[in-house]
Amino acid sequence: MYTPALENLRIVMVETSHPGNIGSAARAMKVMGIKDLRLVSPRKPFSQETFALASGANDIIEQAKIVPTLQDALADCQIVIGASARSERTLQWPQMDARECGTFVAEHLPQQQKIALVFGRERTGLTNEELDHCNTLVHIPMAFDFLSLNIAMAIQVLTYECSTAVRMATPTEAGIADADEALASGEAMEGFYTHLEQSMIDTRFLDPENPRLLMRRMRRLFGRAGVTVSEMNILRGMLAAFAGRKFRERS
Ligand code: SAH
Repeated sequence: MYTPALENLRIVMVETSHPGNIGSAARAMKVMGIKDLRLVSPRKPFSQETFALASGANDIIEQAKIVPTLQDALADCQIVIGASARSERTLQWPQMDARECGTFVAEHLPQQQKIALVFGRERTGLTNEELDHCNTLVHIPMAFDFLSLNIAMAIQVLTYECSTAVRMATPTEAGIADADEALASGEAMEGFYTHLEQSMIDTRFLDPENPRLLMRRMRRLFGRAGVTVSEMNILRGMLAAFAGRKFRERS
């Protein structure tokens, strides 16, 4: 599933200590269809572990831009969201949870705004000065406030929420496929019942002089089933095929 709007979503990692975490982060991004990675002064160069943990996301690592300061990483971004391991309700910065962040990103990406998700150092997170660059913060609620997620796992959770929300908001090929899974309209159901009734009369299964409750029962049965658009196509095709066979039998 490729969602073009996600090209405007950037992941920024500030002064990451472990080269392996950069590889894991690249993998987390790649599986969610996000490519733009900026590394602010990583503490160590890429290592074997980086590429081992990237596991198929080497292209993200190779394209990643290394910049000296956070400002450099954010220069062309309109919206900056800082990921914080702590719940910052007491501070001045507005804070969202992971799901709200996805919705927020899905609302703003289609307007061609570049959005950065900023992640802090493994040990100390983001400084207050760095938080000042963020329009808003996001915190993934955890069972224990004194713990934090591994940085690549935090990236996985947030990129999942963003890509899911963007996909649901954008009419994509997946969206078109889903349209087949929508329930058949009332009009389509009525067309089907007429077709079904006629087929049953034609085959003398139903006597129009003495219909009893057959059609009502059929309506109850198919109404309970929640027939989808694609299932309706099968049912109509089936009735047509039965009629075709009957026609051939007669001739
Ligand atoms: N002791 C540090 C933990 C940093 S974890 C601190 O208190 O800030 C490294 C980075 O992973 C964090 O800076 C943050 O960007 C991200 N992260 C970890 N847990 C997170 C969570 N629950 N919600 C959002 N981001 C999280």
